[in-house]
Amino acid sequence: MKRLLPRPLPPSRALGAEISQDPFDLLSPVLRSFASRHPKEDTAPIEKAWRVAKSLHEGQFRASGEPYISHPLGVAQILADLGCDREVVTAGLLHDTVEDTDYSLEECRAQFPEAASLVEGVTKLSSISRELSNAETIKKLILAMQQDVRVGVVKIADRLYNARTWRFMPAQKASRKAKETLDIYVHLADRLGMGKVKTELEDLSFKYLDPKIYREVVQMVASKAGARDEYLRKMMEEVRAELKNGGMKAAITGRLKSYFSIYRKIVILKKDFDRIYDFVGIRVIVDSPQDCYRAMGIIHGRWRPVPGRIKDYIADPKSNFYKSLHTTIFGDNGQEIEIQIRTEEMHQEDEYGIAAHWRYKELGDFESPEWIERMANWVKDLQDPSELLPALRSDLTSEEISTFTPKGKTIYLPEGACPVDFAYAVHTEIGNRAVGAKINGVPSSLSAKLKSGDCVEILTSSSPNPSPSPNWLSFVLTPKAKNKIKRSLSREKNLEDVEKGKSALFSGLLEQGRILSYSSLLQTSKRLGFSSLDALYGAVGAGKIPPGAVKAALRDGPCGEGRDSEEYSLRVEGVGKGEKIELARCCKPVPGDPIAGFVTNSRGVRIHSLRCPDFVKLSEKRPDKVADAQWKEACGEFEVEIEVLALDRRALLADLSLVISKACLNLSSSRQKVTSNLVSAYFAFKISNLAQLDRITKSLEQVEGVIEVKRA
Ligand code: MN
Repeated sequence: MKRLLPRPLPPSRALGAEISQDPFDLLSPVLRSFASRHPKEDTAPIEKAWRVAKSLHEGQFRASGEPYISHPLGVAQILADLGCDREVVTAGLLHDTVEDTDYSLEECRAQFPEAASLVEGVTKLSSISRELSNAETIKKLILAMQQDVRVGVVKIADRLYNARTWRFMPAQKASRKAKETLDIYVHLADRLGMGKVKTELEDLSFKYLDPKIYREVVQMVASKAGARDEYLRKMMEEVRAELKNGGMKAAITGRLKSYFSIYRKIVILKKDFDRIYDFVGIRVIVDSPQDCYRAMGIIHGRWRPVPGRIKDYIADPKSNFYKSLHTTIFGDNGQEIEIQIRTEEMHQEDEYGIAAHWRYKELGDFESPEWIERMANWVKDLQDPSELLPALRSDLTSEEISTFTPKGKTIYLPEGACPVDFAYAVHTEIGNRAVGAKINGVPSSLSAKLKSGDCVEILTSSSPNPSPSPNWLSFVLTPKAKNKIKRSLSREKNLEDVEKGKSALFSGLLEQGRILSYSSLLQTSKRLGFSSLDALYGAVGAGKIPPGAVKAALRDGPCGEGRDSEEYSLRVEGVGKGEKIELARCCKPVPGDPIAGFVTNSRGVRIHSLRCPDFVKLSEKRPDKVADAQWKEACGEFEVEIEVLALDRRALLADLSLVISKACLNLSSSRQKVTSNLVSAYFAFKISNLAQLDRITKSLEQVEGVIEVKRA
């Protein structure tokens, strides 16, 4: 089927740059651009979205001083120029309404059923998350793109418009945005095949991230422009003549490489700028894929190709669908010049990317590309949010290679990936069971570096308890493999800990000549707050609770003298009459907490919580000083201090205090610590048992903005 291609923009025109000359008809350039690609479609929803957005943003202004509506309008223009469908252009107009006006998602769904899910995807989580961490925002974007990849297209158009107006921002903020753009959005645009947007975002980010070097590069390029243009013109002429002699019809254009790509070559790859010919290229556009190969043959017949620089992305497209033949030739005077050969269709796809991909529409489904699927899956799995950005950057920035299963399924991996990455990309079970690999039929190590085109067979173990090797973590590259290995190892580590804990407990107890009954052990583990015996063994094995503390808790009857406290309702075993009994100030135990006593040298017995880190240290050093202690029925009051971690907002402290006073608790003190947008509020009050503390903790957790409530 012959596909309808988007009519290309005039080459001189930047995306979204057309501005209406008629102040009463600002939308018409968007409609014109949209209609040129989608001549038969009804534009009523776009016009309605324009009216709604305009009235919602009424009275709001951009940092530039322009009315706010210029932004959504500009974003919609970029999207229309990219060739996007009607839902996307509509969403472009509405993309900031839910976040920045009092328009709700429900209203949006009712008014714009076809665009609302896209608007939802680009809207940040909720009103309190305005200051949401970068990592969370990006995570949400990736997950939204998994549902509908077009969310990414809208987000990138939004970023492009904003990048063009960074000059109105404080320099520091602009440079932060520029860094984020280079780290994430540029690569997303690349993955989505939006070559034109990617290049502009790179150049803008470079300009704001490092204005001094940017000016330098611009000047250097300008100083060589004369000689460069002359050389380029001559080479284009000769290529044109050569192809014509060979009987081929071809359009030849020159290509100036972007400032950012020059910067990358000079600063990052440390190449010499005098090789200015690296910074121009020639593009040959022919009628069919077969003609691409013919043209390359003719060119190689005249000029010698630089070895190793021929790339056939037609037979083996990049994962973003990029297709072209690349070659670099020794041109006149031996100066190298790069030539890209492609059809018009391939060219359009390179410039406009997924947006121009009728492919999705034809399939009737906005299936997300495989890499989004893969990325969303490990992003979802990630435990530690601080790992997100670094992992995402490395996933996005690595060159991709395509490898194959023995059955011929393509597995895309980052460059430098090894068979273990491959195994986990195919299936977690295959990763966990991997014991060896064959690359192109040759037995290889699991840490070998894979190359594009490799066919990889994973040899698996049939053991009933397969397990990855901790060693693998030192050479795997993909976040997915790393996550899965860590997870599987921690499960195993837990089993190991259980065994270790069990033997530590039993051996120590046997030395003391004591015999344990299952029921007394089980009771003790419950008293210490563990859900099962294994959980107790595991905690002992992992060193979270010392065997001494468990042993102390295990003393199931008074062994020696015991004594009730006069002050608190608790009993300590094995201590004499004269000893003073006090609650330890480090952990302030309350009735219900598992406790033990520690006999000090001069100040009597201190009662600690068994979880108290100080106690853990003390009891490890002097297990002989640990005395068993239990609460009797509760009476009396105990002071506790709790810490409430919350997102800062107006009236937060008032709301928290209200909850505490409603619970009829008397605050004895309170203090706060504020760091950026987080508040740690500390409240001290008296309670008479643990259940009371539980209740107040639960009610505080209900307060809007509260992230965590814990004992201080
Ligand atoms: Mn916006």
